[in-house]
Formats: sequence, C-alpha cells, structure tokens
Amino acid sequence: MRSTAHHADVIIIGAGIAGLAAAHLLIRAGLGVSVLEAEPRVGGRLATDTVDGFRLDRLGPLLNGAWPELTAPQWLGALELREFAPGVLVHGEGRRHLTGGPRSARGALKAARTLSSAPWPHRAPRTPGVSRMSRVSRAAGGSPAPWASRTSWPTPSAYGSEPVAPARGGGRGGAVTGAIDRARLGAALSRLAATDEARLLARPERTAAEALPGTGLPARTVDGVLRPLLTALLSDPGLTTSSRYADLALRDYARGGLCVPAGGSSALPDLLAAALPPGTVRTGVHVTAVGITSVRTKEHGELGCRSLLLATGAGAAAELLPGLRVPAFHPVTVLHHTAPAPPPTGRSLVLDGDRSGPVAHTAVMSEVDPSRAPTGRALVTSTVLGAPPADLDRSVRAHLATLYGVPTERWELLAAHHDPEAVPAMEAPHDPRRPVRVLAGLYVCGDHRDTSSVRGALHSGRRAAEAILTDLAVPGAHERSPRLPEAA
Ligand SMILES: Cc1cc2nc3c(=O)[nH]c(=O)nc-3n(C[C@H](O)[C@H](O)[C@H](O)COP(=O)(O)OP(=O)(O)OC[C@H]3O[C@@H](n4cnc5c(N)ncnc54)[C@H](O)[C@@H]3O)c2cc1C
Repeated sequence: MRSTAHHADVIIIGAGIAGLAAAHLLIRAGLGVSVLEAEPRVGGRLATDTVDGFRLDRLGPLLNGAWPELTAPQWLGALELREFAPGVLVHGEGRRHLTGGPRSARGALKAARTLSSAPWPHRAPRTPGVSRMSRVSRAAGGSPAPWASRTSWPTPSAYGSEPVAPARGGGRGGAVTGAIDRARLGAALSRLAATDEARLLARPERTAAEALPGTGLPARTVDGVLRPLLTALLSDPGLTTSSRYADLALRDYARGGLCVPAGGSSALPDLLAAALPPGTVRTGVHVTAVGITSVRTKEHGELGCRSLLLATGAGAAAELLPGLRVPAFHPVTVLHHTAPAPPPTGRSLVLDGDRSGPVAHTAVMSEVDPSRAPTGRALVTSTVLGAPPADLDRSVRAHLATLYGVPTERWELLAAHHDPEAVPAMEAPHDPRRPVRVLAGLYVCGDHRDTSSVRGALHSGRRAAEAILTDLAVPGAHERSPRLPEAA
C-alpha cells in the first residue's frame, strides 16, 4: 500500500487521543501513517505538567472504568487507572453526605429499613459530640475529621420541603430520610446502569435541566445530588446538554464509577504514542492548509498523501476546512493547591449541593493517585466551570474551606489553567455520531464529532479509521485491526 510518491498513505493532523487512536488502527491494517502535531508534545488537551515534583493536569478529567475504549485496546493495556471512592461526597447545608453509590443501594436500603424499624431509642444512634459527618468521613476511608466535634444533624430544611419526622432526639427524622433518599438514588442508579444504550437514546430529547425533575426522585435529591453530579460529569453548569447524553453519562458513572490515569492524564496519549512505530508522530509541525492529497506545513512545505484526517479540536478543524460546524464550548478552569495536611475526605469526589461558590468539584488527588504528589505532600485539585471569577484563587480557597471544613489560608496555589474551549457543548438535539467522512480522501475526527469526552474522542478516531479503510478498500482491514466493542 505504501506509496513512495507520497509522504504517507494517510496524514493525520493532530496528535490528540483521537488522532493517535486512528493512527493505531490504520497502521495495524498495513497503511503508512504520519501524524503531524503543532505542539512540541503529543496529547492535545490531555496535558500534565510537572511542578516541584507534583504532576498537575491542565484539565481535571473524570474518566470511567467502564468505557470499553479505555479498557479494550491492547495498546492501552499498560494504562493504570486510579479509582475515586464509590459514590460522591456532596456538601449541603453545612455537612457532607456520602451518596450516589449505585452498588451500595442494597446496603443503604437495609440501613434505612433497620433505622425505620428499630425501637425508638436505637434509631439514628449517635455518639455525643460525633456528627453524622464524621461517620461519613470514616465510611469514605478518611480519618476522623477536625469538625467531628460539631453536632450538626440534618434538619428538615436540609432535605427540602418534604415532611420529615420531628427533630426530636437529635433529628432522627432527617437521618432516616437521608438513608431512604440515598437508597432510592442508589436503586435509581442501579436501574440506569442496567438500561441499554438504545433505550436511553430512544427517550425524548430535552436539555438535561428540563429532564431532571422527571427522574421520579425527590426534589432535594435532584437539586442536592443529581444536579451537581451531572454538572461535574458534563462540565456544564447550566445543564443545557442533551438529556440523552446526560443519561448516558450518568449510566457510565453508575456502571464504572470515576477514575483518573495514574501519574496524570498525559499517561493516556503517551502510551498511545509509545506503541506506534518510531517516527510516526512528528511534533512541532504546524499544518496551515489542507487539500485532499496534500497538506501545507509551516516548517516543511507541502507533504503528499492518499487520505487526510483532521484530528484537531473543532475550532482548528474549521480554520483548515471552512464550513465545518463549530459548536459552542464550555470553559473550564482547573486549580491545583498543596495543603499542609490532606483534608479529611479520602479518595472521594466532593461536590457542592448548595452551589455556594465557584468550585464545581474538587478532590484530594494525592489520595486518589499518590504518584501525583511528592511523599508527605497533599495535592488538592479543583474545577471551576464557566467564566472564572476575577479573584479566582481567593474565592476558590474560601469555597474550599467550606467544602472541606478546614482552613485554607496556608494552602499554596501550584497552578491554574483556563481553557475557554475545553469541552464542546452537546446541546439538544445532539448527534453523537456526526459524520467523519467529509468526502472520499478527506476525513475529520475528534470529540466534537462524537461525545465531548475522552471516550468520544477515542471512538471518533476509530470511526474515522474505519471509514478510511473502507474507502481505500484495504483487504481484510477490519479483521486485522483489533475492533473495539460497540460503545455501550
Ligand atoms: C479543562 C478540561 C476538562 C475536561 N474534562 C473532561 C472530563 O472530565 N472527562 C472527559 O472524558 N473529558 C474531559 N475533557 C475533554 C477531553 O479532554 C477531550 O474530549 C479530549 O482530550 C479531546 O481529544 P481530541 O483528540 O479530540 O482533541 P485534542 O486533545 O484537542 O487534540 C487535537 C490536537 O491537534 C493539534 N492541532 C491543532 N491544530 C493543528 C494544526 N494546525 N497542525 C497540527 N496540529 C494541530 C493540537 O495541538 C492537539 O494536540 C476535558 C477537557 C478540558 C480542556
């Protein structure tokens, strides 16, 4: 197949994960591939910087261990994923609740029944001076918290307007309601986990915000847990995302929980690039114009090819190929702080059910993935969605003090990274399988052609590679390329 008249059979513009995934499949099918990358490194948006021994992601990716695109390909076999604790810690009305763990549904139901049926004095057992918060903290794997001496029990108002038992004997009504709420949410997530994709995609399509009240869960669960969880999963504070994709994102969360690549998100593209034949990826090569059988580069003039795949972000793709749709974007800012001691939340993702500050989600990353911080140092990574406030560090620090319940004045800001085009918006109606074939010989892939995620980018790369192989009529190509399972 390889043509000496050409620089390569296929030139791929962009060494993000979409372009790298496509390169793998094309090379395995026997084609000569050249990946041209403008930056001095591979990975695109999946970048990790090393600062004073800390591994700092420019984005705060929440990946999912159930994504077949991450777990199936053999070239990603060495990828180590570090899991967050099951469920999420939602901060609301002055305390944190461990909730949203689908696998704990049965246990939570049992706990709720036990609490409801226990003789009155034994309901909501309470050690004087130890709050429900501290039990949550221990359940999440954290050490007893400094705020454990606070005796704040849920009051009816903490759970919205639904009637709860009178707050006699330390607010037993709130505790029982909390356990039942968690059980109902856990059961709903378990049902969602078992629902197949076709059924979810057949549901009426609205915005995620419009669809949320129809979940059948109490308003306090919808507003206090599901809304902040979906906001974090979709990087979309307004929840304008298609309700179908929101369902899929929640289903993935219910199936596989949340995880991050060990050592930083750049581990993923680095592994992909390392498994390609030497010389396949050429960094520091900026493509300035494209045709069907050639590209023009700033550094090396014109390079010929049989097929061309644009694997850049949406904006750069439209600059090279005017007329290509450019979606709206969700801006994301990621901040990394180092703290004298790790806040007491263990490996949990912490969300703000009250939306009382700029932070959408935060975690002690050195607990989730110890390789991201030097020994004995704590790394806290926080994400701000939308336009960041002018006094970013100050307002984030104040918010983190509330969320973690510890003083943050002595925390040191290691890095803050803002990306105005971080995540392409997926407003309804959203087509998660936008065509990747512009015309025979010219193709486009990237998260903006699929779903706006690491999974979507990898999947779009595979779709583009298969379209190229089909058009070039490469014999047996699909048999030789390790086929990823259909996205579930
Ligand atoms: C802050 C932030 C948070 C995110 N959070 C999550 C999350 O929680 N979960 C999740 O799944 N996803 C998340 N994402 C999205 C995820 O990172 C992307 O979907 C994915 O990395 C996109 O990969 P890609 O290959 O499509 O594009 P990119 O990574 O953008 O790669 C495109 C490449 O093309 C190169 N390029 C562009 N123009 C040219 C040119 N003219 N010549 C040569 N090369 C060129 C670029 O330098 C780049 O390397 C987040 C992204 C950001 C920025």
